[in-house]
This record gives sequence, C-alpha cells and structure tokens, in this order.
Amino acid sequence: MKIITETMPAIISDIKPDIKEFNKEELTRWFAEKGIQPYRTIQIMRWIYLKQVESFDGMTDISKDNRQLLSDNFSFSKPEKIKVESSADGSQKYLFGLQDGNCIETVLIPEKNHYTLCISTQVGCAMGCRFCMTAKSGLIRNLTQAEIINQVLGALKDVTGEKRLTNIVLMGMGEPLANYENVIRAIHIITDNDSGLQFSTRRVTLSTSGLLPRFDELGRDTKINLAISLNATDNRTRSMLMPINKKYPLEQLIDACARYSLAPRNKITFEYILIQGINDSIEDANRLAKLLMPVKAKINLIPFNEHPDSEFKRPKESVILKFQEVLHQKGYTSIIRRSKGQDISAACGQLSAKNK
Ligand code: SAH
Ligand code: SF4
Repeated sequence: MKIITETMPAIISDIKPDIKEFNKEELTRWFAEKGIQPYRTIQIMRWIYLKQVESFDGMTDISKDNRQLLSDNFSFSKPEKIKVESSADGSQKYLFGLQDGNCIETVLIPEKNHYTLCISTQVGCAMGCRFCMTAKSGLIRNLTQAEIINQVLGALKDVTGEKRLTNIVLMGMGEPLANYENVIRAIHIITDNDSGLQFSTRRVTLSTSGLLPRFDELGRDTKINLAISLNATDNRTRSMLMPINKKYPLEQLIDACARYSLAPRNKITFEYILIQGINDSIEDANRLAKLLMPVKAKINLIPFNEHPDSEFKRPKESVILKFQEVLHQKGYTSIIRRSKGQDISAACGQLSAKNK
C-alpha cells in the first residue's frame, strides 16, 4: 500500500491516493500508525458508503484535526456522470467519465420490485467476442476498485422512492476475472454489511466469458452468484464467437462449473445470446440441455441486440420461443432476457462507442 506521508512536499498533493482504493484493514493499519483509534475506520467508511458524503468535511463526528489529516493524505473521488440516457422502459444508461479521460457505461434497470445495476469492470475488453461492441476497442485498461464502486455510488443518488437498488450484475464492459484483484476488493466493499454498501451476496452476480484459472479462487473469495456467457453448444461455434474457447474449451468449462463451490440451493446462470442461423436451432437447444446436465444450472436466453458494426441478426420471435420450449421440456428453468433500453443503445459498449 502506497500512502503519501505528511513529510512529502505539498506539490505532489494532486496525486494523493483515493480513500476509496483502501479496504478496512489497510485503513485501520494506517490510522494506527497515526495514533487514531481503530473504530474510527468503521466510522469513516460508514460516512463514505452508507451516508455517502462527498468530502471529508461532511464527516461531522470526526474531529477537525483528523479530517484535515485525511484530506492532507487522501483524495476523495466523485462519480462523474457525463451523459445519462433514459429509455422508454425506464432504464437509465450512464456514461461515467474517469480521471484519465476514458469513459465507462453503467445501466440502471427497473424491475418489478427493485432496481438492478449493471456495472463495468474494465475500459474495453481483451476477449474479442465477435458479437460484442466492447470488444471492438480492445482492452484499454482495468478499472480501479474506486472506479468500480463509484458506479454504484453514482447510481444510488438517482434511486429515490420505494423501489430500492438491491441487485448488482458485473455484466457491463470488460471481463471481471481479467481484473480479479480490483473486482474482488470492490465486491468486498459492495457486500460489506458493517461499513460497506451492504448489498446481499445473493443479489450480486459476476458474469464471465470463462477465465477458468480464476474459478477456484472466486469460489473461495466470495459467495456472490456466478454467470457464464456460454452462447454456443459446440466448440467450433463457441470458438468462432468467443476466442477464449480455444484456450478453455467447453468440456473444461463445464467441468469447472460442475466443481464450482456453490451455496446450497444456488445455481450457475448460463447466458445464451440467440443469434439467427448461428446457435438458434432445435439441435442447439437439445445439445444445450445435454451439455448442462452435470451442472446445477439455469439459463438466460438473450435475443441478440443488433448493432451497426455486426453482421449478426436476432432470430424471429417464434424461433426464440421454440428454443425456450425445448429447454422447458428438458426440465430447465430459462427466462428470455430482453435487453432493456434498446432505444438508448443499452447493449454493452454501445453508448461509449457512440460518444467516441
Ligand atoms: N465479460 C463478461 C461480462 C460482461 S459481457 C462476459 O462476457 O460475461 C456482458 C454481457 O453482454 C454478456 O453476457 C454478453 O454475452 C452480452 N452481450 C454482449 N454483446 C451483446 C449483444 N450484442 N446482444 C446481446 N448481448 C450481448
Ligand atoms: Fe469481453 Fe464479455 Fe464482450 Fe466478450 S462479451 S468481449 S468477454 S465484455
């Protein structure tokens, strides 16, 4: 942990580390070095994450001297919404600006009784999936812990009224398991019941294209839900759609899912984008049912969200419903997840592409 000490010249004050980059243990250790009692860490974290103040000055039960010490040594980032698009279905898509000029997308989705927030974990993505807009820019960089958390803090400001923001999906731009350390640290703050954002682990879901070497660690480090972007039932098609499949083919992916440490009664969600003529046949549906037999699985069918840069098309409605029916007959729970906010370019990567 790099924290600038008081002895350093004031001139470097603009590169003070952001307080939101640190976890409870690190802050407690730093405070101890300064002779501040450990319980102050909880107090300060509650100001940041529960009361959601926007500066050290707002922490009214912390002494003036200690507030000064904090602002001399840490910066306090703010989520910067540079664009908000609202959709007819009530979704809101945010473009957050980052300090280095990059942008990321976050989508707030109204459900029947709550809101779900879809957050990004990287600027761009290195995985190169053929159907995905985010893939077009390649990986620009990982998001920091604070940049991941600030998406939640920024959206929470807009959630008023009876419906609460209770669910988070790591399904925006980027491959979360390729930015493992920052993602896990952010998840720990998001799900910290004591002095973090207090989301239930049962209501947070990480979606991955299948970076298998991280699976064991993930199951050990957190109890949040796991979703896999599957999208095909044979290696040839999956490798064409998702190059990562060449490294970790379907057999290995299913095997890792079958071994994954799940909470009792929990299931892994398999996301399957339906693309016309590529993966939408009855044979595909039958193969999918067979493929997932070793896993406690549920399936989200996602009709392909068409965008100008892609040659792919969404299947006809009748084809989508038939595909779902085959899965039901085989005993699978599957829902058809309509992309929300289609009129506001809500599929991953589309708003940020438009902004460029
Ligand atoms: N990288 C992770 C998480 C983010 S990708 C992953 O791949 O799982 C976000 C989700 O959007 C994935 O489920 C992906 O399959 C889906 N997606 C990407 N482009 C899409 C499109 N054009 N139409 C529908 N879903 C899309
Ligand atoms: Fe990356 Fe996910 Fe898009 Fe694939 S689908 S390119 S893994 S963001």
